[in-house]
Amino acid sequence: MKYNIEKLNQIAQKVAEMVQEAIEDENQEGVLIGDVEMAMREGLREIGGQALKYFLENADGEVAAEIECACGGKLKYQRHREATIWSVFDKVTYRRAYYASCACGKGCAPLDQRYGIEPDKVTAGLAHLIALSGIDKAFEDGKKWLKEYLLFEVSENTIRAETQKMGELQRQAEVQMIAETQDEASLQKRERGPKREVTCLYGSIDAAKVRIEPRDEQEKAAENREKWRDLKAGCWYEGESVPKRQRSARQRHKAQREGTVLRAKNKQYFCDIDNAEEFGKLLWATGCAVGADCAKLLVFICDGAVWIWNLIAYYFPNAIQIVDWYHAEERLKRIAEDVFSNLNERHVWLEKVTEDLWQGRVELVIAACQPFSTKSELARLAVTYYGNNIERMRYDQFRAAGYLIGSGVIENGCKQIVTQRLKLPGAQWNLDGAILTAKARTAWLSGNWQKLVSARSLLPLAI
Ligand SMILES: [Zn+2]
Repeated sequence: MKYNIEKLNQIAQKVAEMVQEAIEDENQEGVLIGDVEMAMREGLREIGGQALKYFLENADGEVAAEIECACGGKLKYQRHREATIWSVFDKVTYRRAYYASCACGKGCAPLDQRYGIEPDKVTAGLAHLIALSGIDKAFEDGKKWLKEYLLFEVSENTIRAETQKMGELQRQAEVQMIAETQDEASLQKRERGPKREVTCLYGSIDAAKVRIEPRDEQEKAAENREKWRDLKAGCWYEGESVPKRQRSARQRHKAQREGTVLRAKNKQYFCDIDNAEEFGKLLWATGCAVGADCAKLLVFICDGAVWIWNLIAYYFPNAIQIVDWYHAEERLKRIAEDVFSNLNERHVWLEKVTEDLWQGRVELVIAACQPFSTKSELARLAVTYYGNNIERMRYDQFRAAGYLIGSGVIENGCKQIVTQRLKLPGAQWNLDGAILTAKARTAWLSGNWQKLVSARSLLPLAI
């Protein structure tokens, strides 16, 4: 927004004088820049609150004796009524024209409607900031943290409610996408429409456990109630090579070995706590949104869970399936630690078998684990794991084709969604709370936060 510089200067001078006077009045010695900044922020917040009040009161325009009611009837002007909102400048009370006496019994303040204001509620501007703390921090910590930024207090309950509203908006958007991509007519229309040109797209899916607390005595008493639920998360992304200058030490090392280093870009996360079938619909819907259904090349990098491969095979039968390199390699490390006490022997075995895996010689890897399968549970499970995934571990071919082979993206995504938020100390979740907070967080991580903020400005939500 552009402002008249001269006017701004005048106001700025007034603010400076005001702060100066306040400091002198309090007779404070040794005032430093931090004190001046704080005094100015406090003053500016008060000015903001006043300005918002004046703005709203001026924006009301001329009062009409009568206006149309949404029901088709007529509303008559009553009087100027007071309303209160919680804005980024704290509580603001203003007066605006209020109309009533329609046969339908409803009243109306056109100003509130025009600006998307709900009296007695948090404004969209404040909701945006509150929810931002809610997707990042335990609500209790968010409260302290927000107070430093906003200079007034917001309750934990408000933070929870506003965060979940953002999640609800994300959920509504997803429900819409799912409806469109499950509907035959919409799919056919999409088929005829312009296609997104995606050359190479990646997908990854993973799951992490979230503890769900019983909400009330009845839930507590219910038998067989699952406390730990799987949060399923997925990510769509594209690969790009990391420029030489930006490579980390680990990536430089990797570049020596692999020739090139790829990283993920344009990451789009999605998540839910639901069964595989329902999650599959979300996978398909989000996939259609990024053009996975018509990508020239589609590669899935996942860890071995069977339900994941089943969903991929069902929705994207032509996709290339790769078991995440780091998971595959990690297993070998754990087996080596389990079966060799002699460090030298451990090292020799591990180096050989890791190289075999790297070269896509999965049969040799299985053969190397086999002899230990009677004494090591890890080795026994690994024989099945590598055996079930042989074609998904042809790392030599995948590397030669220039594909990413590690799903660090989704690992990281799950960590960012689950560990770094849902598992924070002090975090207690009912099922909906966990889902909505996680969904709001995926919107942030995917760069779609502004869409939620815009949607939040538009609709007064009833949840
Ligand atoms: Zn009416």
